[in-house]
Amino acid sequence: MGRVIRSSRVVLPDGSVGPAGVEVRDGRITAVLPGRPAADVDLGDLVLMPGLVDTHVHVNEPGRTEWEGFATATRAALAGGVTTIVDMPLNSLPPTVSAAALAVKRAAAAGQCHVDVGFWGGAIPGNAGDLPELHAAGVFGFKAFLADSGVPEFPPVTPAELRLAMGAVSALFLVHAEDPDRLGAAPASLVYADFERSRPGAAECSAVGAALDAAEATGSRVHVLHISDADAAAVVAAGRARGVRVTAETCPHYLTLDAAEVPDGATEFKCCPPIRGAANRDRLWAALADGTLDIVVSDHSPSTPALKQGDFAGAWGGIASLQLGLPLVWTAAAARGFDVADVVRWMATGPADLVGLRHKGRIAVGADADLVAFDPDASFTVAPDGLHHRHPVTPYAGRRLTGVVRRVWLRGVKVTPGDPPRGRLLARSADLLEEAR
Ligand SMILES: [Zn+2]
Repeated sequence: MGRVIRSSRVVLPDGSVGPAGVEVRDGRITAVLPGRPAADVDLGDLVLMPGLVDTHVHVNEPGRTEWEGFATATRAALAGGVTTIVDMPLNSLPPTVSAAALAVKRAAAAGQCHVDVGFWGGAIPGNAGDLPELHAAGVFGFKAFLADSGVPEFPPVTPAELRLAMGAVSALFLVHAEDPDRLGAAPASLVYADFERSRPGAAECSAVGAALDAAEATGSRVHVLHISDADAAAVVAAGRARGVRVTAETCPHYLTLDAAEVPDGATEFKCCPPIRGAANRDRLWAALADGTLDIVVSDHSPSTPALKQGDFAGAWGGIASLQLGLPLVWTAAAARGFDVADVVRWMATGPADLVGLRHKGRIAVGADADLVAFDPDASFTVAPDGLHHRHPVTPYAGRRLTGVVRRVWLRGVKVTPGDPPRGRLLARSADLLEEAR
């Protein structure tokens, strides 16, 4: 017999939210029982949702473990209701651009992870020949930059090099879409608007266009990372309408922050592409509502506090929000009239589907029992010392947020950040390999 966890508000894959019992056996969901069945755990009116899946996380270990590491990142994830992350191929050393480098990263992660962890590979100039072997070794796809990545060992590709990589392997390609020819030199300024002006939305639109053209020419699947400019979302929609196999994401910071409210010198708000204005932000929400944007993921990209110092030109660009993504998005989504099932679609089921993890991100028979008991009505104030990220640098300090993660189960086992790590390393499934062809 399995154990049954019951709630009056269970989020199901069809978008419905209602009373049900979730039967768990050997780490999997074995039944979803309607109504109010006898239960071992009764959550009352707490929402029972699938654990979130965050496909955009920079863990940075090995090599830059002083920025973030597997233990700290996955503890933060667990605290934030995220039960699966997929790690980006850069800022670790070596970057994950070959099967040998993937083996180094997997060895570094092994035994340290509090949630399940998968890996992306990287496409850089000159490594197209390494991509098939790296794909066969289990990465979920390949990330490429069209503009400077911020680290010298992960150089950007030209659109021609992107096509070459796409032609070398049948896989999902992720693109950081900013056109270097349309980016200005950021002035050494403490004024946020000067930084934002140096990375205009036109640079995103142009690069998204180049990425879609490459995907169209090669028949590849392409996923546009961290869209910040709503016009770039419109370019995605147009590409999809003409048959390009494209998906796209945005991030909590673009959905919740406003360029006009960034204080002078507040480099904790710096990320690339940049946070833009409130009118653009409204249009990003509209793009989520109409399905142009598929998913919301963190782009958790920490560094040391020292590297976040200085002016907007010199400071490291990246925001660490793995632990806060759910309450950030839920607070804003609820205020805009969305419900918890929308958030689950954007932050759990959608990202799981992106990477072909059909047994993650949903409360369905056969799925892993990665579950979160979430109080959608409780609120809290963000206190940096409550964050499990290695460095508690955050633009959200002092923010009042709604939505508290009360309990987390990983494959049926109740877990907390203080427990021994139970996460597993994930590899792309053979099913996905078939679909990518
Ligand atoms: Zn990133």
